[in-house]
Amino acid sequence: MCGIIGYLGGQEATPILMDSLKRLEYRGYDSAGVAVLETPRPGSLIRTSVTKSEAKVDDLITKLKAGMPSGHLGIGHTRWATHGKPTYINAHPHTDCKGQIYVVHNGIIENFAELRRELQAKGHEFTSETDTEVVPHLIEAYYKGDFLAAVRAALKRLNGAYAMAMFSTEDPDLLVGARLNAPLVVGLGDDEYYIASDITAIIPYTKRVLVLGEGEVAAVTPLGAEVSTLDGTTVKPKLVHVDWDVSQAQKGGYPHFMLKEIHEAPEAVANAMRGRLTDDGVVSFREFSPADEDLARLREVLLLGMGTSRHAAVLGELAIEDWAGIHARAVDAAEFRYRRPTFGRDALAVVITQSGETADTLAGMRLAKDREALTVAVTNVFASSAARDADGAIYLHSGPEIGVASTKTYLAHVVSLYLLAMRLATAHGRVSLERKQELVASLRELPDQVRGILEREKEIASLAHKYSRYRSFLYTGRGFGFPVALEGALKLKEISYIHAEGVSGGELKHGPIAMLDKNFPVVAICTAGATSEKMVNSVHEIVARDAPVLALVTEGDTSLDGVATDLFTIPRTEEAAAAILNSVVLQLFAYHVAVELGQNVDQPRNLAKSVTVE
Ligand code: GLU
Repeated sequence: MCGIIGYLGGQEATPILMDSLKRLEYRGYDSAGVAVLETPRPGSLIRTSVTKSEAKVDDLITKLKAGMPSGHLGIGHTRWATHGKPTYINAHPHTDCKGQIYVVHNGIIENFAELRRELQAKGHEFTSETDTEVVPHLIEAYYKGDFLAAVRAALKRLNGAYAMAMFSTEDPDLLVGARLNAPLVVGLGDDEYYIASDITAIIPYTKRVLVLGEGEVAAVTPLGAEVSTLDGTTVKPKLVHVDWDVSQAQKGGYPHFMLKEIHEAPEAVANAMRGRLTDDGVVSFREFSPADEDLARLREVLLLGMGTSRHAAVLGELAIEDWAGIHARAVDAAEFRYRRPTFGRDALAVVITQSGETADTLAGMRLAKDREALTVAVTNVFASSAARDADGAIYLHSGPEIGVASTKTYLAHVVSLYLLAMRLATAHGRVSLERKQELVASLRELPDQVRGILEREKEIASLAHKYSRYRSFLYTGRGFGFPVALEGALKLKEISYIHAEGVSGGELKHGPIAMLDKNFPVVAICTAGATSEKMVNSVHEIVARDAPVLALVTEGDTSLDGVATDLFTIPRTEEAAAAILNSVVLQLFAYHVAVELGQNVDQPRNLAKSVTVE
């Protein structure tokens, strides 16, 4: 999620860790820390120096400069909190009971709660609220004289996502890295080695990088780096020569942050579900856990958001109404704050904001609180204002998003709201077990299906090339396709400055169709769903007005063959899940149109990432 760095070599580790953490700063983080295995003075015992800061890396650096730890092995971390507030205690590195094992971690340990209980029962004492802290304790529990073997045994017990760097005072020449569902590389210098979550961290030091595969462990000693599986089978890692500069490295080799972040969609979708959902549709959120009775008494759900978050809110509204059978409405928070709304104690207000600091949305939440509604923030930023002020929080766990136009966090918002809808459905005794299983199966398929769409980026780029000459667009859809149309149009407006409107398929005939002619293309969301036949009729009506149509359809559906000007197919799935896939297509479409037009996609004119003023 955020950044990790490890060093082993002939130089002093501390300055390298400081410099690398500084270079990871661009991603945003909430706290930072390093652990350095200090070179023992003659006659004294080996010890580890740990320095942490709950503020900026500069603060950490000031602390380090004040008492520079001297040693040749060290690890560092910038944290994007997922479990436990961004405090000094929760900052990494974390250690075991004896202070021998040190770990930095990016990601989420899904089964940390049960592991923590198990370890506590054996007498392990925990100091932080993080999921990460189970790792050093688990390694400690398995340690019988071989650090690497203990690491492997411990990692086998973990579910979730991790990129880690770790060491033990018992094995002072060994730095270990490991990854699962989160990136990690090993940089090879001249008799020195680096472990990093992001090539940016190590780019000035080396261009030769080993890319670890899923579930692989790197054991780095002064003699070299060996990569193996959790079972101990040696693997030949991929050696890559990176010739990126720092700015290219920050973007992971992509030309823009926005494109990098669209490509992070599979992980963002998976992280929003991680550890929260069983195959039977039982949903649990760590920081929002009202009893079933408290949810069962709710008569209304308000979903407050602005811009892209409001479009996620509309998808949430549909899912909550359909699955939980509760009256739900997505509202423009800026309008809502000046109304005299009629809801009260039997309402749940869902506050949707990536940054957790959106001024209008926060004002809407205050109004909801004044009315004694239950409140929950759905946000990407731990302990943000929204998360702090609401009764509970559902975190997106998407990691930092730098592109101003939201992409991966929008998808994570939608998935989180679907999970909330399922939670409410359970409390309200709605949706059969079979239906829940079907819905869960379709959500679980999403990361791979999104990957499949991303692999077809060229197809989308060539459509974008063709359509980029138009100056106005209409986006249209029905059901779950309607908010997708709204968001597709917004994304195009935001980054290409082309006029685009989203309207429902039914609304088309009530006005907007008057604008259509051969120079006014329509993007039509026609994928399988309750109203897809109606959309097919709409496309016929549009084509009759000579407007070019780019239709998103389900694989195997031929009803628009020879009718729509262009077709893009997506895999057959639930209508709610298709909204995610369609959105990814439209994000890539908007991105490529904007690039064709030479726009600054990461920082579109007149826009700010987090709108903290009214
Ligand atoms: N889940 C860990 C924590 O909350 C790691 C977060 C990160 O990726 O920075 O401490």
